[in-house]
Formats: sequence, C-alpha cells, structure tokens
Amino acid sequence: MKLFAIFGDPVSHSRSPLMHNCVFKNLHVDACYTRVHLEDGSKLKETFFNLGLSGANVTVPHKEAAFDACDEVRGFAKKIGVVNTLINENGKLIGYNTDADGFMYAISQFSPIKNILIIGAGGTAKALANKFVEENYHVEVLNRSQGRLTYFKELGIATHTWKSIQIKKYDLVVNTTSAGLSDNEYPAPLEILEPLISTCKFCADAIYGKVTPFLQLAKRYEITSKDGADMLLGQGVLANALFTQHQFKNESIEKEMKGSFLL
Ligand code: NDP
Repeated sequence: MKLFAIFGDPVSHSRSPLMHNCVFKNLHVDACYTRVHLEDGSKLKETFFNLGLSGANVTVPHKEAAFDACDEVRGFAKKIGVVNTLINENGKLIGYNTDADGFMYAISQFSPIKNILIIGAGGTAKALANKFVEENYHVEVLNRSQGRLTYFKELGIATHTWKSIQIKKYDLVVNTTSAGLSDNEYPAPLEILEPLISTCKFCADAIYGKVTPFLQLAKRYEITSKDGADMLLGQGVLANALFTQHQFKNESIEKEMKGSFLL
C-alpha cells in the first residue's frame, strides 16, 4: 500500500486526508493519506523518506521549505519558489505547485474578467499574481504593509498600501490575507473595502469553511462570490492526479473528491 500525507503546522484542521482518501477508496487505489504535524520545516525531507511516503502535500508554513527540500522542482513551482505537492520519484523528491491552477479552476465560472485586485502579499498572493500575469490579466496588489510588496513591484505589478490606494473599479477582488481565518477582521479598513467591493463584479476568498467578514460584505452588496473551498478542491484534484500518475481523468477525481465535502 502506498502512503501519502500532508505536512503542516497546524495541520489538524486540514481536509486533505478526507479528500484524498475518498478518491483512493472509491477509485480502488491501494493507498492511504494521513497528516503529519511538522514544526521544523528543515526536517521535511528526512521525515518524508523516514515515513516511506510516495507523495505529500505541504501547507502553511512549510511551502517555501518544501521548495528548498526538493531534488527537482517542476513547472510553475519553479517560477514562484513555492511547493505544495511532493512526489517520490525513484528516491528523488520532486516538487510541484497546484495552488494557482486550483484557484484558476475555482474562478472559471467568473467571466468576463480583465482587472484583478489581490488583497494580501504572502505566498498565496505570489502564486496567484504570477498565474494572473501569465494568463494576461491586469493585476494589482493591496497589502497593509510595504515590506512584501517589493516582490510584486519587481514583477511589474502596481502595488498599494492602505495609505496609498486610489479606489477604482476591478472585475475581481481576491482576499489572500488570513484576516477572517481565526478572527472577525476585514482584510483592509472598511472605508477602502466598501467602495472596492460594491463596484466589483466578483469576489473570492482563499479562506474556506466559514463566511469571512470579507465575504459577508460581498454578500451585502449582492456580489457573486465564493470562499476557498473550490480552490482547495482544484489544488487537490491536480495533486491527486500526480499521486495516481494520471491514471484517472481529472473529472473522475473531482467527482470523488467533491463527495468528501458532503461527509
Ligand atoms: P501568508 O502568511 O504567506 O500571508 C498572509 C498575508 O496576509 C500577508 O500579506 C499579511 O500582511 C496579510 N495579513 C495577515 N493578517 C492580516 C490582517 N489581519 N489584516 C490585513 N492583512 C493581513 O499566508 P498564505 O498566503 O500562505 O495564506 C493566506 C490565506 O490563504 C490563509 O488564510 C490560508 O488558509 C489561505 N489558503 C487557502 C488555500 C485553499 O486551498 N483554499 C490554499 C492556500 C492558502 P503583512 O505582509 O502585512 O504581514
């Protein structure tokens, strides 16, 4: 039997074991997926091999450590320096990133979109900004502090802080901050957020499992919106396709994985 896991700190909240085990069980794959609470990201590689894993997912705060741990990084992960999926390929650790494509899957019904504002400037924002640029969207980034904005400026993206932003109309506003995750905060002050949300077409939050204050505001203005559940599903489907070496259609994996959301 093949063993898979998710590494994180914390990790007990993760829905990934349920999602992947549902696919393995219903598609008759001889495999099992568990969770590993890992505090020290530098121990990722040795823990992976000591446990005899065939593959893994990596969540907060180890996605950059996962990139460093890999023998080889492929595709989009190489561009952004962030890895969320690991594969054991003949004793070598191969890294991928499925978060950004998972998000593109999540917003595929949001159309038409040209201008996007990302709120937040962490790892998720990096992945999404790179993907949006790659797909020729116009993207801007708003963050509460200046420090992490340098990365986006170097990509040629217009950046704003709460002090410098001039309100304008965006097609899509995405919350990638952790505001609202374990508190009831908005990702930006209301005097900034209200005009942004009330004039946009769509809102998306990376946080899943709750209606954050950001999403409550979108609902108040009757803006079409979604939480991070579809992003979670999208990245999970793509990771599972890597785990099962593309032996199933993504649609079949998606169908089984969606079932886990009803459990
Ligand atoms: P990071 O820690 O890398 O970045 C967090 C960002 O949020 C920073 O820009 C930080 O600003 C900002 N921030 C934090 N708290 C607040 C606040 N109270 N008000 C305003 N801004 C704030 O996190 P990640 O990018 O890894 O993850 C962000 C969120 O996305 C998490 O909630 C995570 O659960 C979710 N996520 C969901 C996924 C899914 O599949 N649905 C996948 C990946 C992530 P500053 O720079 O000033 O510190």
